Amino acid sequence: MGSDGTALSWLDDVAAERRDAGLRRELRPRSAGLEPVDLASNDYLGLVRHREVLAGAAAALGRWGAGATGSRLVTGTTTEHELLELELAEFVGAESGLVFSSGYTANLGAVTALSGKGTLVVSDAGSHASLVDACRLSRARVQVSPRGDVDAVRDALATRTEERALVLTDSVYSADGDLAPVRELHRICREHGAVLLVDEAHAIGVRGDGGRGLVHEVGLAGEPDLVITATLSKSLASQGGVVLGDGRIRAHLIDAARPFIFDTGLAPAAVGAARAALAVLQREPGRAAAVLSRAADLARIAGVPEPESAVVSVVLGDPKRALDAARACRERGLHVGCFRPPSVPAGTSRLRLTARANLTDREMALIDQVLTDVLAGAPA
Ligand code: PMP
Repeated sequence: MGSDGTALSWLDDVAAERRDAGLRRELRPRSAGLEPVDLASNDYLGLVRHREVLAGAAAALGRWGAGATGSRLVTGTTTEHELLELELAEFVGAESGLVFSSGYTANLGAVTALSGKGTLVVSDAGSHASLVDACRLSRARVQVSPRGDVDAVRDALATRTEERALVLTDSVYSADGDLAPVRELHRICREHGAVLLVDEAHAIGVRGDGGRGLVHEVGLAGEPDLVITATLSKSLASQGGVVLGDGRIRAHLIDAARPFIFDTGLAPAAVGAARAALAVLQREPGRAAAVLSRAADLARIAGVPEPESAVVSVVLGDPKRALDAARACRERGLHVGCFRPPSVPAGTSRLRLTARANLTDREMALIDQVLTDVLAGAPA
């Protein structure tokens, strides 16, 4: 029992420690009215308020109702869910797709169903937290390989005693925005009889021909031993996740992926919005190139190397310095991301800027002024 007579006083100690270290987190609700210029969201293609995307959501809402009403295996699969799966699979060049209620659950489902006891899972150290958590749930032997280290993955696969192996990586690393060596990883997986799972959350809509992702860009679309996971919440301006790959994988996930089986299906409006966003992207493939071009503009302003994705990371080191810089940006009308441990390693706290295809020249002028001033006051 703690000093306040409840079992919760340890939370005060933890909160004080986090506050002293500049690591407390705050929710800041967006309110209607004058919104800051958005350099923090994942709305890479600028579609979240697009007329056709809203209409897609509204049509699905009207047709199917507000909720999915049940798990996918019971009442939560509409014809619209299946159309979205077919359309996403065709878009990235995969044989099939299975939609989940989030990218997080898609990763949990894919990794747990494709591994288990008697499997080695090799997870890249730069992988997203949902892949890390998937490893924890997997009951497999897990080996973390240094970020982007192809040789370490080869060694882990070559010296394993398990028959089956699964290698995990993001294609665009979510904190830094650079690219994983997907082609080399796939070659090694093929040589050593392993399956490669690539999280394309930050690559869909940004990398590859018309935003088809990095797997497509490096010529690996449709390879049977490669599984793609992705979210519908970034470029596709909605909510939900998807696993894309060989038809046998889809069938197995329906049988065995607990985050698929025991979770309520994705809400119909989210399905409708994602389908409409994908249709817009296919009609206007230039949006993918526009994101990269705006990201390059942001990097020039921030004085960091040209980015390989929508994510532009400006490392400032100390968490308080990053917080102060983010606050200074906000006071001048710019909403930027601020990443601190545990989202990034200690000593690499940063401003994380995300580009949007629809950033206007006027917004860019404000960004130039504010970022230049703020970063001059907060040198790395
Ligand atoms: N993977 C990566 C690389 C991500 O950045 C995210 C989202 N932040 C996810 C998975 C999880 O996706 P969702 O937000 O749809 O759960």
